[in-house]
Amino acid sequence: MTGKRKKPASHTATARAASQPSTETTERGMSEVDRFLIDTAAQSEAADGAQGIAPAELSFPEIDPLATYWTELDLFCKKCAITHYVAFCTMLNAAESPHLVERARANQFNYKRCPICHTIEYVEHPWTFYDPARRLLVQVRPAWEWHAGGGEEWYAARLEDLFDRWAEHDVRIDVVFGPEQLIERYLQEGE
Ligand SMILES: [Zn+2]
Repeated sequence: MTGKRKKPASHTATARAASQPSTETTERGMSEVDRFLIDTAAQSEAADGAQGIAPAELSFPEIDPLATYWTELDLFCKKCAITHYVAFCTMLNAAESPHLVERARANQFNYKRCPICHTIEYVEHPWTFYDPARRLLVQVRPAWEWHAGGGEEWYAARLEDLFDRWAEHDVRIDVVFGPEQLIERYLQEGE
């Protein structure tokens, strides 16, 4: 982008324009400064946008969508009114990560712990359980979605989304609301 190279020049010009208003009419001096500020803001926004998109596009093709995958979420503690990072597993591949299946079975998976007050809470964010041995893919959604009036219709719509997304994979799919429902339906001992 050529916008980046122009940046230092426009900073200099802004400084010069700002030091002059006493000799010129205020209105003219102000409008020049304003124009420089607007241009500079527009340029840096364009640059930020480009930077935000590029890394995702580059790294995306290398990710196996069915491999166990962790991400970092910025989560909020209501008690402390602070935001903290939490490692969150968005895809649990049961064949690859049997120890994580054991944690999920014990309902000790994808919880967060506040670094200040140490409160432990389930992270209300969708994640996916995939078991290649059973050709089963289950999306685990927050329980509140169901209780907030989503119910059967919401379940059907989410199931349809999931079906569209995984249509090319030979898997049985389901949607559950809350980790308890996943355990009840799919993680009983012996399964
Ligand atoms: Zn806290």
